[in-house]
Amino acid sequence: MNLFNLHTHSNFCDGKAEPEEYILKAIELGFHTLGFSSHAAVPFENNFSLKEERFDEYISTIRVLKDKYSEKINIFLSLEIDYIPGITKDFEEFVRKGNLDYTIGGVHLVRNKEKQGLWFIDGPRQETYENGLMKLFNGNIRKGVETYYHQLQEMIVTQKPDIIAHIDKIKMHNKDRYFSEDEKWYQDLVWKTLKYIAGETNCVVEVNTRGIYKKRSDSLFPGLQILEQILHLKIPVTLSSDAHKPDELNSYFDETISLLKDIGFNELLCFSKDGWEKQNI
Ligand SMILES: [Zn+2]
Ligand SMILES: [Zn+2]
Repeated sequence: MNLFNLHTHSNFCDGKAEPEEYILKAIELGFHTLGFSSHAAVPFENNFSLKEERFDEYISTIRVLKDKYSEKINIFLSLEIDYIPGITKDFEEFVRKGNLDYTIGGVHLVRNKEKQGLWFIDGPRQETYENGLMKLFNGNIRKGVETYYHQLQEMIVTQKPDIIAHIDKIKMHNKDRYFSEDEKWYQDLVWKTLKYIAGETNCVVEVNTRGIYKKRSDSLFPGLQILEQILHLKIPVTLSSDAHKPDELNSYFDETISLLKDIGFNELLCFSKDGWEKQNI
């Protein structure tokens, strides 16, 4: 299979290398397509997103590289945009301002409208997850997880991202800790979220390998059961490494492709200059 990755973080946000280093690595790996997706700016202090004042520089840098390497690889320009109700800007604003090729929407910060602050569910530290859950939801994991999925559902319906990032990211620090993904209340939340995607949107769900190769999750985002439901609902999927370093560009791709085939998937969607294209696996 010809490879691609549409979800890539460079040193414009929390990635570790210059955009060009990813392109050279992608060419070396035989990729036909690479999409850059810095974390879009959020209106508060943080150490992961693109800074508002570097937005234009990001856009122009990727556009210049797109032209420079156009003979060798298709480069696309995107952002991974956070959705936090009442706090973040509409995705449409970023698309217009940057003339983005596609958007990736995700929830990394969960808002409890009755309280100050946000629950940061991402990042390497278990304590950050734990402390946020205590502070925002008094340690009530079910309430926190429900709020995560409701926020995601609201993003899907109101923002209609082209790609939904790591749909079950909320399980990241959960390994044998807070809840079982087999519990009915959890499965109902996931199912309802998938029904929104299948029913009201053209969103593509990404199969994100980062949790596994960073050893923060036992399964892909999304996990096996959710992938089976996605197939059943005929929701299109793409494959992403969510790379933060050039050598992560194809991490865990071989294993993931064979798992997807075992489940029954026979194609992935990849972005092209003519929009989404099917690619057999
Ligand atoms: Zn993300
Ligand atoms: Zn990402």
